[in-house]
Amino acid sequence: MTLRNELFGQPPFFMVEYENYNFAKCKSFSNATPVPFNSSLWKQKRFSDIKINMSDKTVLTGLTPEEISTRFQLKPSFRAKQIYEWIAKGVESFDEMTNIDKATREKLSESALLRSSSVSEVLKDPDGTIKLQITLHDGRAIETVLLTDKEGRKTACVSCQAGCAMKCAFCQTGQLGLGRNLTAGEIVEEFLYMEKEAGKLDNIVFMGMGEPFQNLDSIRKAVSILTDPKGRALSSRRITLSTCGLVKGIYELANNGPKMRLAISLTTADEELRKELMPVTAGNPLSELKKAIAYFIEKTGKRVTLEAALLSGKNTGRESADRLIAFAKGLDVYINLIPWNPVPGLDFTTPSADEVKSFAKMLEQANLNVNLRTRRGEKIGGACGQLGRSQTLQET
Ligand code: SF4
Repeated sequence: MTLRNELFGQPPFFMVEYENYNFAKCKSFSNATPVPFNSSLWKQKRFSDIKINMSDKTVLTGLTPEEISTRFQLKPSFRAKQIYEWIAKGVESFDEMTNIDKATREKLSESALLRSSSVSEVLKDPDGTIKLQITLHDGRAIETVLLTDKEGRKTACVSCQAGCAMKCAFCQTGQLGLGRNLTAGEIVEEFLYMEKEAGKLDNIVFMGMGEPFQNLDSIRKAVSILTDPKGRALSSRRITLSTCGLVKGIYELANNGPKMRLAISLTTADEELRKELMPVTAGNPLSELKKAIAYFIEKTGKRVTLEAALLSGKNTGRESADRLIAFAKGLDVYINLIPWNPVPGLDFTTPSADEVKSFAKMLEQANLNVNLRTRRGEKIGGACGQLGRSQTLQET
């Protein structure tokens, strides 16, 4: 995909054009006037040259009260804390900050932005799943999904990267390659946009686009902002990081935090098959992965979740079950089984209900805690492994 950008007015109204893409189809940019593909403006700029005109404005979503205070020299000193509290409440205009005097609000609006990204599309599945497509200031698109369980608990599945470098063979995002890491502010914005759309969120999982251990600094800061008692005050017990199995990252999280739950996208405990499906395995063998998981459990006292995307005829047979049972032996883990969600162009098959049940039964007979995940959000490309699909669809 070739993505080209041009600034159009002030953020978030900027222009995005895909090669061979019909602008009229893209309702999210209906305010923008397309630049003809052969225009001189177009030819003068390549994607890497383009800088969105935000340099003179500071985006507030990724800042702590101390950083806001230092950056804007606000008086009295509690002003920064008040602004921070308004941001956590999700205000979208400085005028909504009713306890801030008018002069300060005007000063802020001249030099700061409340958001750097914008929601370009909201998709709702009849099963209650919501997917937001969010356009970042440089024109890249990410996706955030809301899942609601039977008890009505709302979980935001948040992205930490635009695209992903890990190339898992069964995952739509892995086919995109890595665009870039998200900033802490962009991650906080995903959360705020989803709360606006769906109401108060109960949980966050870093299980959207991207590999969290490749962007742990931004995640650390976003989590510190979202869990801050002065701000949104989300409990760290409500936050889960899901990795494809980067061993160093697991030790880092265990030793230096932030406190959160850990899930491993294991898929299979067959080393050779895992190498085929998840190239990360080559540098992070299963023996080392198991040691790291055991260390995390011991160090944090938290049970870990092992996730397996089930691919018919690949990782659902007796041998696969035995290898998974052997891997889980001695570890305090839950096993989440997720029947693979179809991705156009990928040559895998979703297992039948009987195939899934039979695999789950084999694990349960070995006394493992097994949870069969309901498939949700498939109709809107919001199910596990499908994120990034709308970017592909836009190109066609
Ligand atoms: S499963 Fe996760 S780590 Fe693997 S390619 Fe997809 S987003 Fe990246």
